[in-house]
Amino acid sequence: MNGKLLFSVASPLRKAAGRGGARVVLLDGTLSIRCASQVPADLPEGFRGALGERLDLQTPGGRLVVVGCGNPGDAACEEKFWEASGAAAIDALRAFRIKSAFLSGELLPDSASRQHAAGQFALGAILSSYQCIAYRATPPKTYFEVEALGLAAVDWASSSGGRELGAAINWARALVDAPANVLTPQAFANEAKALRAIGVDVKVLDEQALERLGAHGLLAVGRASEHPPCLAICTWTGRTAKQVDLGLVGKGLTFDGGGLNLKQRPVIEKMKFDMAGAAAVVGTMRMLAKLKTPLNVVAAIPLCENSIDGKAYRPGDVIGSLSGLTIEVDNTDAEGRIVLADAMSYLIKKHQPKVMIDIATLTGAIMSALHEEYAGLFTADDELASLLLESADATHEYLWRMPLSKRQDYLVDSEIADVKNVAASGFLGVGMGSSIGGAKFLERFARDTRWAHLDIAGTAWSTRPHPGIPKGPTGFGVRLLYDLANRLAAQSGRRGGN
Ligand SMILES: [Zn+2]
Repeated sequence: MNGKLLFSVASPLRKAAGRGGARVVLLDGTLSIRCASQVPADLPEGFRGALGERLDLQTPGGRLVVVGCGNPGDAACEEKFWEASGAAAIDALRAFRIKSAFLSGELLPDSASRQHAAGQFALGAILSSYQCIAYRATPPKTYFEVEALGLAAVDWASSSGGRELGAAINWARALVDAPANVLTPQAFANEAKALRAIGVDVKVLDEQALERLGAHGLLAVGRASEHPPCLAICTWTGRTAKQVDLGLVGKGLTFDGGGLNLKQRPVIEKMKFDMAGAAAVVGTMRMLAKLKTPLNVVAAIPLCENSIDGKAYRPGDVIGSLSGLTIEVDNTDAEGRIVLADAMSYLIKKHQPKVMIDIATLTGAIMSALHEEYAGLFTADDELASLLLESADATHEYLWRMPLSKRQDYLVDSEIADVKNVAASGFLGVGMGSSIGGAKFLERFARDTRWAHLDIAGTAWSTRPHPGIPKGPTGFGVRLLYDLANRLAAQSGRRGGN
């Protein structure tokens, strides 16, 4: 399910190539070779090296697959060129139904360092190897598993970060693809426990533990489901200092039916994806542990299902929360912010993180505002905003900064409780500032912790194909948060932290 593609040093595979494997050559849009090899003599006329173009040639040296990589200038940058090339190589092997192959020669990057090029090539290849077939009795006709791709030794050694990143993103994608009847809150928590094998401490607080804590928000949202809510706490200790450098919170609604404010088609049937923030967080934790990032990070992941039965929380209810603040439930479908608030309060009370980021498929309104290419960034902290925007540019997981101003504090004022979970509807009766309202609600619970909120409702699921990622779950957030963690680690290193 996660793509079983294995990378290895090419030499053992050269032998395998004699038994049905193939050599792969990369040609860019100028028909220049992109790996140390020879341009095949008998390229058919009309072959331009465009991205996605491919040839399956029989040569005296054996089977040769020629992969077009496009013009480097067409990709957003050199990294994207190499990522797209890796994806195109796997696409070609799959199309020609070749199980194992090796890249003919070493990668020849133009400007980016070889290490970067090899990592990005491996990342694209691994992303492209992901196919979701776990929920079928018979795989579709298009299904084909490329089992192994060999690289020259130097590229192999340089590609480890990209290989790990691909695996972490594919894990997040597989979690988002999992239907809600399979991926219940407990099932997600069990998946997270896999992180223990790589040195992440994982504990899961069940309903009784949540009662003792006073996590009344998470309990209220989850209480109408036959699958009880839980809170997964994942801790990566990357340096010896006691201080928690970064707290992560990922929205983990394994299904959001809306509660008594029931959702309708064509929205409700897609709501297995409402745990994409949680998936991005566990994917990030996996990267931190695999690459041993020198940073202390605690993730709090609220997991539950927003359902209906006789015990369901109601619009108009006033409920408690872990922070002690009371919440007027204006709409039971604005549940994500309630469970995030309890997870944020848990982090603040138990760990006092220096910086806290929540990531959530929070509002449909962010899709109206930004479409699929940008996630909404909300923070009042300019320095943290700059850091996140730098990470966004570096990883091509783009953010657009939205307002979070004291001028709009009133948006979530309640007449009966400390805070209301939906911004007041305004003129014309439409929901005004719905995404800002979500952020303003969360801000009340972040208190004085340095904090940013990422609304990924538009970026978590793509309706357009991208190299390595066809339509569907994108794993958005893994690259971004991992990059941010590295920036924070570099900062703490410069400040002499241990
Ligand atoms: Zn909802």
